[in-house]
Amino acid sequence: MAQVSQLYQAQQNYFQSGATLPYSFRRQQLKLLKKGIKKFEERILSALQADLRKHPVEAYSSEVGFLYEEINYMLENLKSWMEPEIVSSPFVTYPSSSRVYKQPLGLTLIIGPWNYPFMLLISPLLGAIAGGNCAIIKPSELAPNTAVVTAELIKEVFDPAYITVVQGDGAEVIPGLMSHRFDHVFFTGSIPVGKKIMEMAVPHLTPVTLELGGKSPCLVDEKVNISVAAKRIVWGKYWNAGQTCVAPDYVLVHQSVKQQLVDAMKDAIVKFFGEDPAKSPDYARMINTRRFDTVANYLKEGHIVHGGKTDRDQLYIAPTILEDVEWSDPIMQEEIFGPVLPVLTYTELPQAIAAIQQHPYPLAMYVFTKQRKVERMVIEQLRFGGGCINNTIVHLTNPDLPFGGHGYSGMGRYHGKYSFDTFTHLKGMLKTGTWLDVPIKYPPFGNKLKMIKQIMK
Ligand code: NAD
Repeated sequence: MAQVSQLYQAQQNYFQSGATLPYSFRRQQLKLLKKGIKKFEERILSALQADLRKHPVEAYSSEVGFLYEEINYMLENLKSWMEPEIVSSPFVTYPSSSRVYKQPLGLTLIIGPWNYPFMLLISPLLGAIAGGNCAIIKPSELAPNTAVVTAELIKEVFDPAYITVVQGDGAEVIPGLMSHRFDHVFFTGSIPVGKKIMEMAVPHLTPVTLELGGKSPCLVDEKVNISVAAKRIVWGKYWNAGQTCVAPDYVLVHQSVKQQLVDAMKDAIVKFFGEDPAKSPDYARMINTRRFDTVANYLKEGHIVHGGKTDRDQLYIAPTILEDVEWSDPIMQEEIFGPVLPVLTYTELPQAIAAIQQHPYPLAMYVFTKQRKVERMVIEQLRFGGGCINNTIVHLTNPDLPFGGHGYSGMGRYHGKYSFDTFTHLKGMLKTGTWLDVPIKYPPFGNKLKMIKQIMK
C-alpha cells in the first residue's frame, strides 16, 4: 500500500512537471514503445504460447501486429488530433472567438483481461500516451507469463513515474490502487468486475471506460453466400478457442438454409484444424480449469452435431457445434467465451430481431446477407456495440471505427482517434476582444428585454 502511494505520488509529480504535454514527447514515447515491442516480440509470442497456446500467426496478428498498426496510425495523425479546434461563437458573445483545447486527463489506470493479455493492455495505453497522460497498467494475473514479459518491457521502455506495471490478483491490488484518485480508469473484463470497478470509482467521481462482454449474435439470412459465411463464422468463433470478447456467441440462421450452413461450418472446421483439432498447432486452449469446466458443462445442453471432445489435462475443448438449444437453456443465458457454438433458427426476420432484443445489448452483432433491407433492419432496430456485415470480429481492426459496448456490454469507446479522445479532456475556451464591450448584458436592465428578445429568438 505504501508502495502504491509512493508510485501514485511519483506519477502525480511527473504529470505536474508538464513533461507529458508536448507533441514531441508523446510521439517519442509511442516510437519507443514500438521499438520495445519489436525487441520483446519473440518473448511476447512465447508467453502467449505458454499462457494460451496461441499459434504465433494468431498471436502476432491479434496482439503484436495489431499494435504496430495502431501506433503507426497514431504517429500519422497525432499532431492534427492535438491541434485546438476553432469553432464558431454565438452572436451574443461578440466580439469573441472560440477554441476547443485538447488537454491530458492526468493519471490513468488501465486494467486488462487474460484473453488478449498483451494487446488489450497496450492498446488503451497508446491512447493514454497519445493523450499526454501518465499510466499505471495492471495485467491479468491469469495470463502470468504475458504479465511478466509486459512488466519487463514497460520497465525497460518507460520511467515508472510516467508509466508502470502493477501486477497481482485484481481483487487484492485494484482496491488499493483505486483508493487513490485517478483521472480515468479504463477497464477491460467481465461484467461483474466491471460493476465493482464502477463502484470503486464513485468516491472520487472518476470517469470509467468499461469494455465488457456479452452474447454477440450472428444472424444468417436465407439469401446468403453459405460457404463464405460458414468460413468467416468458424474463423471468428474458434480464433483463440472462442475466448474473444467479440466472438460470435451463437448463430441464428434462417430455417431454410440451416442444414447447408451447419454442413459448411463442419467442413470449415475440418479444413482449418484437421480431423482431430487436438493435434492442430493452430488451435488454442482454454485459459484454466475453471473456464474449462464452465464451457465443458455447456456440452451437456442441446445436441452435439460436431466436435464435443474434451481433455481437461490439456484444457482442450474441440471446436463444437450444438443444435436443439433452447433460448431458456443456461448456455443462452451467459456469455459462452469458449469454442461451443449453438445454432438456433428462425423463419421470419422480425421474430429473430425480437429474440435478440430479449437479451442485453451485445458487444458485437454480425449479419450475413445479400439483402440491403436485412442489413438496414439489423442496424436500425437492434442496439449493440458494433459489428460486421458478412464478416466477424474484423471491425475492431479498423482504427477509424469506434470500438466499445452499449448497455451491459460496456461504456465508452476507443481505437484510433477514439482512444485519443477517451484519454483527453476537451477544454472549451471563449476569448472576447476588449476593443468593444457591448453593454446590453449589464444591469440595470431597464427595458432591454425587447432588444434581447430580438437577438435570442
Ligand atoms: P475479469 O473481469 O475477471 O478480469 C479483468 C481484470 O480485472 C483482471 O486484470 C483482474 O485481475 C481484475 N479483477 C478481477 N477481479 C477483480 C476484483 N474483484 N476487483 C478488481 N479487479 C478485479 O475478466 P477476464 O476473465 O480477465 O476476461 C473475460 C471477460 O472480459 C469476458 O467477459 C470478455 O467478454 C471480456 N472482454 C471484453 C473485451 C472488450 O474489449 N470489450 C475484451 C476482452 C475480454
